[in-house]
Amino acid sequence: MATTHTHIPIDEEAVEATLDHSTNKDAFHVRDILAKSLELKGLDAPDIACLTTISDPELLAELFDTAKRVKDEIYGRRLVVFAPLYVSNLCANECLYCAFRKSNKDVKRRALSQDEVKHEIEILIDQGHKRVLLVAGESYPMEGFEYVLKCVDSVYSVKRNNGEIRRVNVNIAPLTLDEFRELKAANIGTYQLFQETYHRATYAQVHLDGQKRDFDWRLSAMDRAMEAGIDDIGIGILFGLADWRFEILAMMQHIRHLEDHFGIGPHTVSVPRLEPAFGSDLATQPPHPVSDIDFRKIVAILRLAVPYTGIIMSTRETPNIRRETFALGVSQISAGSRTNPGGYADDEVADMSQFSLGDHRPLDEVIRDVASLGYIPSFCTACYRLGRTGQDFMDLAKPGLIKDHCDVNAMTTFMEYLMDYASEETRQTGEQCISEAIQRMPESRRETAQELVKRVREGKRDVYV
Ligand code: SAM
Ligand code: SF4
Repeated sequence: MATTHTHIPIDEEAVEATLDHSTNKDAFHVRDILAKSLELKGLDAPDIACLTTISDPELLAELFDTAKRVKDEIYGRRLVVFAPLYVSNLCANECLYCAFRKSNKDVKRRALSQDEVKHEIEILIDQGHKRVLLVAGESYPMEGFEYVLKCVDSVYSVKRNNGEIRRVNVNIAPLTLDEFRELKAANIGTYQLFQETYHRATYAQVHLDGQKRDFDWRLSAMDRAMEAGIDDIGIGILFGLADWRFEILAMMQHIRHLEDHFGIGPHTVSVPRLEPAFGSDLATQPPHPVSDIDFRKIVAILRLAVPYTGIIMSTRETPNIRRETFALGVSQISAGSRTNPGGYADDEVADMSQFSLGDHRPLDEVIRDVASLGYIPSFCTACYRLGRTGQDFMDLAKPGLIKDHCDVNAMTTFMEYLMDYASEETRQTGEQCISEAIQRMPESRRETAQELVKRVREGKRDVYV
């Protein structure tokens, strides 16, 4: 069994030095960086560090405005929607912030059977979902890692009327090279894994037992995933554990490492903030809490630093924070989420949940809200199914070509949702949103969009370019 353990340099001294040099920059300097970011080539560490120091309200408004322009340029008004699927909360690790940690005797343990997985998926399909993110603790039932592969198969096997899950992403503990190969063969979309904190000493303080104590095994996971052929990966930071300015710069080192070695960076970055978790003092009182204003800064800075990387916002955040950050750069959101295994079938088992949610609204309500703000909820999965991932995706994304596909596909999948699953109120809001969006489209794309949306109205499904 291969167990590659690449050494990836996170140079903490370099991060600290860059942060130290970043203070006392004048407004000219900041505006220069903002102007540079509009070239959509990303930013280097000193520039990013400088943006983190902005506190002047006028400059802050300019930062947000620049992030909005970059988001509009690359992602337009689409927001990809998904639901997490917690299959198991068994865990052998001792992460002090998580309700699933081994020593937490108050949490009820459960690993879904394959029939139960299918039942959860039936419910999600009936709500209108097309993408799920499969999540599990780091300990599997009897069959070991096979369990995850079976769950992925179960998800893809369910078909209901017009509905099916067309893309399964996974967020599970680091695997060996051989296991990653098996995961790739199971046809997953994105492999997602958060380093939690890039600060080694903090990492050691909050991960007390189990395989997850090994900082380097986790940090090198994306190298193994890439070597195994999974070129669509998602990274993230659990904000609140260490200084957020440090975390962003250290994560940039990780991203540069991946770009240097594999030619592409992560497809997505997630930005979870610590939320209260059953039986966790650390989660209730984060050592480095991130304020709402800093959180918006984080999203805006990431949008400028890695313009082609999607930013994921989960239901950990409140509806208001989610709304504010859509404009700043978020490109994917979860909706209608449950964070306990079996949570879609049985609403009442909150004592199995991983953490508290900030947004409890059902999918239909989130979709209506998103559409009324002028965003197009997208259930599109075309890129992954047509093999437009990794380098192929970047080749289309960088010259702005991907928009031609995404804008149209967002509308067809949104129209599918409106016709098959939406409430009457949401359908009306959505119809108006689509017709306004079609009018705003450049002529080159408008006709295609009109034609494909019409086909969906006439009863065709899974229509994409
Ligand atoms: N067990 C695997 C692992 O830890 O990598 C994967 C699943 S874990 C349930 C998914 C993520 O939940 C973790 O990476 C962590 O960032 C996040 N998480 C854990 N406790 C949290 C909390 N109290 N608030 C917000 N996010 C939390
Ligand atoms: Fe287990 Fe993951 Fe929770 Fe840590 S974060 S206790 S590894 S489920």
